[in-house]
Amino acid sequence: MIDWNFHSRAHACQACAVPFQDRQPYHTLLFDQKSEYVRLDVCDACWQKQYSQGANDRRGFISHWQGVYEVPPAVAVDPIQKETAETLLRKLIELNDPQYRAASFILAVMLERKRLLKVKAQTTEGGQRVFIYEHPKSGDVFTIPDPNLQLNQLEDVQRQVGHLLEHGFAPVEPPAAAAAAPAVPAEAAESTPAPQPAESPVTGS
Ligand SMILES: [Zn+2]
Repeated sequence: MIDWNFHSRAHACQACAVPFQDRQPYHTLLFDQKSEYVRLDVCDACWQKQYSQGANDRRGFISHWQGVYEVPPAVAVDPIQKETAETLLRKLIELNDPQYRAASFILAVMLERKRLLKVKAQTTEGGQRVFIYEHPKSGDVFTIPDPNLQLNQLEDVQRQVGHLLEHGFAPVEPPAAAAAAPAVPAEAAESTPAPQPAESPVTGS
């Protein structure tokens, strides 16, 4: 089972529970606990005392890095704000729908090129490559499996991403990149003709 989620940066040390101060350096440890990834943020004192020795030998250890805590800014959320690659990626991850995995991967690559995300580590799960991205500003960590896109799939996924960026989620319209179109449900087959979607389903090449 591929874990596919994101992990926010803690606002307090997860060892001693003392809240992080603005600009305070901290350490992040990432572990693979079989069914999920576990992220641990600790202050420098706790790192020195409890984790700096042998962290790499702990079971499931994936990665360790240092960050600087920033007090999150108070932002007013604009409900009609246009979707950006970043807000869209967060929504897709929250949705955790396999049909958007390729789109999420493409968005993460886009954000990495813009230096809005950084690859912190790479691991494998069931033979599949998983990238661990950090959003440096908020310290959020995203785990995104590599969908192993073939060149001939790329165009469909890019179209899906473009559509989502422009229109957000339109649940009535099946995304172009859906792997295999499901058959028409039996009960719908003999009803009055339903309006057909403007785009015909993508046929495999
Ligand atoms: Zn601590």
